Amino acid sequence: MSKKVIIIGSGIAGISSSLKLKSYGINSIIVDKGNFIGGRVSTKEIKNNSSSSFFFHGAQFFTAKTHEFKKIISNGVNGKYVKEFGNFDPKRYRGNKTMRDFLLNLSNELNIQQKVKIVKVKPDNDKIKILDNKIKKWVSYDGVISTLPAPQNHELLNQFPLLQKTLKTGSYHACIALMFTFDEIPSGLNTYYDFYKKPGILSWMASGSNINVWTAHTNEKFSDLNYHKDKNFLKEKIMSSIKKFFYSSKIKFHSLHVWRYAKVAKKCLGPQIDPKYSVAIAGDFLEGPNVESAFISGNKAANLIFNRLK
Ligand SMILES: Cc1cc2nc3c(=O)[nH]c(=O)nc-3n(C[C@H](O)[C@H](O)[C@H](O)COP(=O)(O)OP(=O)(O)OC[C@H]3O[C@@H](n4cnc5c(N)ncnc54)[C@H](O)[C@@H]3O)c2cc1C
Repeated sequence: MSKKVIIIGSGIAGISSSLKLKSYGINSIIVDKGNFIGGRVSTKEIKNNSSSSFFFHGAQFFTAKTHEFKKIISNGVNGKYVKEFGNFDPKRYRGNKTMRDFLLNLSNELNIQQKVKIVKVKPDNDKIKILDNKIKKWVSYDGVISTLPAPQNHELLNQFPLLQKTLKTGSYHACIALMFTFDEIPSGLNTYYDFYKKPGILSWMASGSNINVWTAHTNEKFSDLNYHKDKNFLKEKIMSSIKKFFYSSKIKFHSLHVWRYAKVAKKCLGPQIDPKYSVAIAGDFLEGPNVESAFISGNKAANLIFNRLK
């Protein structure tokens, strides 16, 4: 089917939308404002002498409960770009060697352009017009799937009131990620520490592509109360918690990343496609607070757009 479809966002929801459309014979284009593929499934490189290590400062792992995502994971494990993480039931997985490798392998036949920010979307007869910050000219499409976090999507889709109504119904927790390394790797170090429901400000700490690069995440309560505060204040507060935990080791701060829209607190309810125009929304905000849910919502959006365009 020769239809022109654009997908906004190269996170897991955007990638799954594009893969599903491709399976129907529609070659879509994905655009994303960020420097790298993946959105909240993110990887940050740290160069040390001639080699590199990688922090995973967004999603730490993914699980697979649905048939569709299990297939993705099993292909990844067979292709060696996904590997099991830890020893959990249900199983947890990570990209191999990095989270970005997972996404790059998954999308290697897709058309993706990074560093392109969509600034406006408007109806135009039976088509949809899109304006970006790069070519700065309106371009017409037969279909659009927009995968920004719900509040940003709400702002972008201001000409589509019914979708805005859906997007208004959900909410997110923030999360603050602090990346650090050890001067000397402590003996007996695990690969992760889970602080779920424990006192303090942390929810999780885990190593990245190797045992010397670590990310600490703050818990929902601390994150929601403090995400807007001064970065030095946040750095000091989180570093002091980490130092207390690794009291006998020397820790080196690397960087801090504040995720305003990190994990879905309340899912959005309502239509996923505009009743008149071929504009659909996808993302974790429709299905649940994790990578697999975002993937599933992308599949659903692609089905809706395909049925509308055929
Ligand atoms: C700190 C943290 C820890 C997490 N831990 C886990 C975990 O361990 N396991 C798990 O399963 N899930 C975890 N999650 C949740 C998981 O990462 C998300 O649910 C999932 O990645 C969301 O994918 P998405 O495609 O819906 O959205 P996103 O990944 O946010 O993708 C949206 C994309 O849209 C792009 N964009 C935004 N505005 C524009 C614009 N105007 N023009 C073009 N592009 C635009 C963004 O750059 C982004 O790439 C975590 C999330 C965070 C932040």
